[in-house]
Amino acid sequence: MTEYDYHDWGLLVDGTFGPSESGDRFDVENPADGTTIGSAPDATAGDMDAAIEAAEDAYDDTWQHVSARNRVEYLLEIADRIEAEFDEFVRIETLENGKPLYESENDVEEAIQGYRYYAGAADKHHGDTIPEKEGLFDYTVNEPYGVVGVIIPWNWPPMHSADFTAAPLAAGNTVVIKPAPETPLSTLKMAEIWADVLPDGVVNVVTGGTPPGARLTSHETVNKIAFTGHDETGKKVMQAAAENITDVMLELGGKNPNLVLPDADIDDAVDGAFHGIFDGQGQVCASGSRLLLHDDVYDEFVQKLVARTREMTIGPGTDEETDLAPLVSQAQYDKVTDYVDIGKDEGATVLYEGTVPDDVHADGYYVPPVIFGDVDPEMRIAREEIFGPVLSVFRYESVEEAIEMANDTEYGLTGAVWSTNMEVANRVARRLEAGLVFVNNFVNGFLGAPFGGYGKSGIGRKLGFEETMGEFTRTKTIRTAIAGSEPGDLDEYYD
Ligand code: NAD
Repeated sequence: MTEYDYHDWGLLVDGTFGPSESGDRFDVENPADGTTIGSAPDATAGDMDAAIEAAEDAYDDTWQHVSARNRVEYLLEIADRIEAEFDEFVRIETLENGKPLYESENDVEEAIQGYRYYAGAADKHHGDTIPEKEGLFDYTVNEPYGVVGVIIPWNWPPMHSADFTAAPLAAGNTVVIKPAPETPLSTLKMAEIWADVLPDGVVNVVTGGTPPGARLTSHETVNKIAFTGHDETGKKVMQAAAENITDVMLELGGKNPNLVLPDADIDDAVDGAFHGIFDGQGQVCASGSRLLLHDDVYDEFVQKLVARTREMTIGPGTDEETDLAPLVSQAQYDKVTDYVDIGKDEGATVLYEGTVPDDVHADGYYVPPVIFGDVDPEMRIAREEIFGPVLSVFRYESVEEAIEMANDTEYGLTGAVWSTNMEVANRVARRLEAGLVFVNNFVNGFLGAPFGGYGKSGIGRKLGFEETMGEFTRTKTIRTAIAGSEPGDLDEYYD
């Protein structure tokens, strides 16, 4: 039994909460102890059809007639309402995702800021005017797509729910959002606010697994898909969207390099490497999962990093002392612990492997931190996204070799470089094939700055103002025959 009871929420379709057409629900677990804390409707493809129809009607009948200035007001009110229930959002996130409370607080704060940021963007994404041949005048308008389909993962549910609704709404679209089955409750909590504040059908929430997700990506009414998740799922999304030539934005995984040059400030870089891999229990697309150390600093760096890692407190996210909380699910636990075994089998050196304290719950999905050393670039732990608190450390002898190793990946989401020589640091930053490069920091949190991947890390950019508003609008050029573009004496009109 559990003291938590989040069992009442239904699907949000056309402003009304209701059951799935099958009546089935799936349980939502607390990863800290395996107890059930709630449930959500297990939607079918038919439920998704109903939600898409509601979003289309809302776009046609209501939302497209709401001015950009008025959309600002709606978005600001949603931000205020999330803020008013800050503690409840934090609690739900830690309960369903497992992460420490301070991480959930950052996430919910990002959700609030996201709504405020995109509220400010709603009436500022202007078109252009273009010189044309004499007698013609071009101007562009940025028009919404209509219905935008959003699919999100489980690692930052409030922030993803907020950013991927606020931006399309600001741009004038209506939305159908499908959260991950591991963490539907934050989105359903936010659905109460959308239902209260917005006209019916402007945001619709469909919970469940692959069937409703696959339907959303293949539906001909949906004109834009914003997907965040694994690259293998991203491929399926892209294939499904290809049937209707639907535009896709894909925010996928990473195997991000963190380069420490021989002249780096070692203590700063150790701190950055530590947070870069262990924040979010390593379940972070942007995490610095490949640490590249110059031979001159390898031993000192590893010794300091291991000492720091040894001090981590492993425990439930609800405990204020916790640094490293459980992973989100049994599936994640199995995947990450398999990779730890793979790394050992491949012959990587175990520089450090933590232990889970006896007093944490035996049914929780706790994986202690693992640091592998002298990793070979061909090993699977060097190439595949593990998505857990497992770090692969590489040794290099020249900066050129390090850059080659850093770019030897199919992914390209983030990268970092540490050096006290800013000229070198900036030159390395330009050479890294990634959408975001950190210089002498590893600070995630990107609102305002474009974020997205190279290679298999994705297509499109979120969070930057122009880029994101561009993602959720289509440009139309209007060429008008216009009188009055000829030079000459205006008095001839009055002679
Ligand atoms: P996932 O791909 O397994 O699932 C993501 C979402 O897709 C879920 O809602 C899931 O139900 C849905 N889904 C599954 N099959 C589908 C299908 N055939 N059609 C449509 N939807 C489908 O990913 P996950 O395990 O939830 O999340 C972890 C992954 O997300 C990691 O690879 C991580 O790097 C990535 N991620 C990327 C970013 C980014 O901004 N680039 C941010 C967070 C997470």
